[in-house]
Amino acid sequence: METMREKFTNYIDAGVPVIYINSYEESKTDELIRSCLHSRRAFEWNEAFGILDFKTRERQSSEYLPLTDYLQEIINSGLEDELSQKLLVLKDVKPYLEDARTVALLKHICIRITQDLDAVIVIVSSTVTIPAELEKFITILEPEYPNESEISAQVKDFLSENSTEDNPLSVGDDLLEEMSLAFKGLTYFEIRNILQLALATSGELTQDALKFVFTQKQQVIKKSGILEMIPLKERPDDIGGLENLKAWVHKKAKVFKNINKAAAFGVDMPKGMLIAGVPGCGKSLSAKVTASLFEVPLLRLDMGKILGKYVGESEANMRKAIMLAEAIAPCVLWIDELEKAFAGIGSGTEGNEVTTRLFGSFLTWMQEKTSPVFVIATANDITRLPPELLRKGRFDEIFYVGLPNPNERKKIFEIHIAKRRAADLGGIDIQKLVEKTDGYSGSDIEGVVKDGVENAFTGGKDKLSTDEILKAIEETHSLKEIMKDSIDKLSKEYKERKFKNASL
Ligand code: ATP
Repeated sequence: METMREKFTNYIDAGVPVIYINSYEESKTDELIRSCLHSRRAFEWNEAFGILDFKTRERQSSEYLPLTDYLQEIINSGLEDELSQKLLVLKDVKPYLEDARTVALLKHICIRITQDLDAVIVIVSSTVTIPAELEKFITILEPEYPNESEISAQVKDFLSENSTEDNPLSVGDDLLEEMSLAFKGLTYFEIRNILQLALATSGELTQDALKFVFTQKQQVIKKSGILEMIPLKERPDDIGGLENLKAWVHKKAKVFKNINKAAAFGVDMPKGMLIAGVPGCGKSLSAKVTASLFEVPLLRLDMGKILGKYVGESEANMRKAIMLAEAIAPCVLWIDELEKAFAGIGSGTEGNEVTTRLFGSFLTWMQEKTSPVFVIATANDITRLPPELLRKGRFDEIFYVGLPNPNERKKIFEIHIAKRRAADLGGIDIQKLVEKTDGYSGSDIEGVVKDGVENAFTGGKDKLSTDEILKAIEETHSLKEIMKDSIDKLSKEYKERKFKNASL
C-alpha cells in the first residue's frame, strides 16, 4: 500500500492544486509536509499568527492578516512572484471555506495552478468542508492507520521512552499482541494519547489497561462522527428462534475466527449479509449476536451522519468510514436502516445525485472488498432498495425475518421472563401466552412481559403470574394489527424474491 508520504509526493508531482489533509494531528501533518518539501519554500497561514515561514515558524508580517486579505494580497502582488515553486499551508480555514469571497480567491489561484503556476496549496483540517466551486481542484489525503506490527513497535518505543531505572516498563508478548489489536483503527497520535493516559492513570501497562484502551477507543471512534462501536452483551441464546440465520452465522463464525487458515485452504472471505423484514423481530439483535460470535468489534454506521451538506463531503465521510472499518478489521460493520440511505436512487432528482454516487462507491467497495470487514445491512422495506444491491455477489446471503411463529414466540417469552423473573418461569402457562399473541413481534412480546412484571409489582403481588401478562396482552395492539397491509405486502414480496427465511 502507498504510504501517506508517497501519496503526498505523487500529488505534488502530478500538479494537484489543493491537497486536503483530513487530520487533526497537526504535528504529524507538519512532519509529513516538511519531509516532502525538498527545495520548495513553504508558508503557512493560521488563525492564531497569520502568515509564517513554514520551516522556521517566523512570522512574515507584523500584523495579523485574515486569510481573505492575505489571498487578495498575493493575487495583487502577482501570483508568479508570490507563489512560484512554493507550497502554501492553510490551517483553521473551515469558516473561510464557507465564505464566498475567500472561495472565489482560492478558485482563481487554483485555475492558475492548473494552467502554468508551479505551486501547491495544502489545507489541513480535522473536518472535510469542500465548497462546490473548489471540488474539482481538491484531492483529499486521508489519515494513516498503522497496522498491527507498526502499533506493536510504537507501544514498545513508548515503553522504552517512559522507562526509568526505578520504574522499568515492559509488557509480555500476549498483552502486546492484544494491545496491538485493540489499538487498530486509531492513528499514531491517538494511540500515543491513550498510552499516556493509561500510564498516568495506573503507572504501568497491565491487563487492566486493555479495558481502558477499549473505552478510550470507543470515544475516539464516536468523535469521528460516523461510526459507533457498540458494546456486545448479546449471545445466541438471547435470540428466540431465527434458527436458519443462527446456523448460517455459526458456520461463518468458524471461517471468520480462523480467517488466515480458511484463506489458505481456499475459502472465500465472507462479505456479509442483508437482513430484511418487519420491525422489532430481531434484526438488530442478530447483528449484535453475529459480532459476538465472530469475537470481533461491532461498528455501527450512521447513514444520517454520512450525508453531509457540502459537495464531496458525503463521499469523503463514506470513504473515511470504510477506511476506519478496514483499519479496525477484523470487524462487523453494521448499516442500520439501509433503505433510508439508499432510497430513491436513480430517480434523477438533485438530492439523489449525491446518494447515487455514494451508493456507487459503496457497491464497488462491497464487490471488491478483500478485507475481513463483514457487512451486516438491516432493512425494513427492501422494495425501496435499488435492485443492484440485491444481486448475488454483493452479500453472501439475504435473510427475511418475519413475525415469530408459535415455537419462536414460546422461546421469546421464556427469554424475556427469565431475564426479569427467572424464578417464576416454571409457574407460567407459556402455551396460553403463545396462543394469544399471534401477530405480535419479538419487541411486542418483550413489551408485554415488561408490562406484566410491572403490573405484578404495582398490584402488590410477590411473583409474576400468567394473568398479569395476559392482561398486558389485552391492552396491547399487535404489530400485525397496526401494520397489517404493509406486513402482508412485504411477506409476499420476500416470498416472490425467494429470500432465505431466517426461521426454520
Ligand atoms: P427495527 O427494524 O425496528 O430496528 P429490529 O428487527 O432490528 O427492529 P430488534 O431491535 O432486534 O428489532 O428488536 C427489538 C427488541 O425486541 C430486542 O432488543 C429484543 O429485546 C426483542 N426481540 C425482538 N426479536 C426477538 C427475538 N427473536 N428473540 C428475543 N428477543 C427479541
